[in-house]
Amino acid sequence: MIDQDIYVIVVGIMIGKLEWRKAYKEYGIGIQTYNELENLIKEKMYKISKDRPPNWDELEKVFKADWEHTAVAYHNTIHAKYPDKLPPDILVHEQVHLKQQGGTIEKTKEWWKKYIEDDKHRYTQELEAYRKQYQYIREVKKDRNQIAREAHLIATKLSSSLYGNIVTYSEALKAITNK
Ligand SMILES: [Zn+2]
Repeated sequence: MIDQDIYVIVVGIMIGKLEWRKAYKEYGIGIQTYNELENLIKEKMYKISKDRPPNWDELEKVFKADWEHTAVAYHNTIHAKYPDKLPPDILVHEQVHLKQQGGTIEKTKEWWKKYIEDDKHRYTQELEAYRKQYQYIREVKKDRNQIAREAHLIATKLSSSLYGNIVTYSEALKAITNK
């Protein structure tokens, strides 16, 4: 029995690793550990689409969003004009929004409604996503100057008109880097 158990475990790990490689190759997603991958598979992995999200017209109107340069998480899909060019840290960011949206269409619609209407709520949601994005950058990039540059870019973006100037640059930088 023990031999059989070990056999099952080994085959399980081999299949798991193949899935991991496939997922990484297909999506280029920011998976750092096997456990993270297992969670993504369990949660049903998200899709990627080149089409505009269902609420695009509203986003364009409210935030003056530019389809050329915007990635949008909606329900179970990350939408972007050029998905192949999305860097892994942006995918990490959008994955956080997919989780926040709660997995159903109804919850996603509610999430977006609140996101658009409520500045404070929008800030908490974006801060969580940008913090995770920054953590990922810190894990994969070794160069301290590059990490500092990325923190600067994130703080600039988070404090910009895109999110309705919800926070100052220095507050954003502090909140993202924990300094
Ligand atoms: Zn975001």
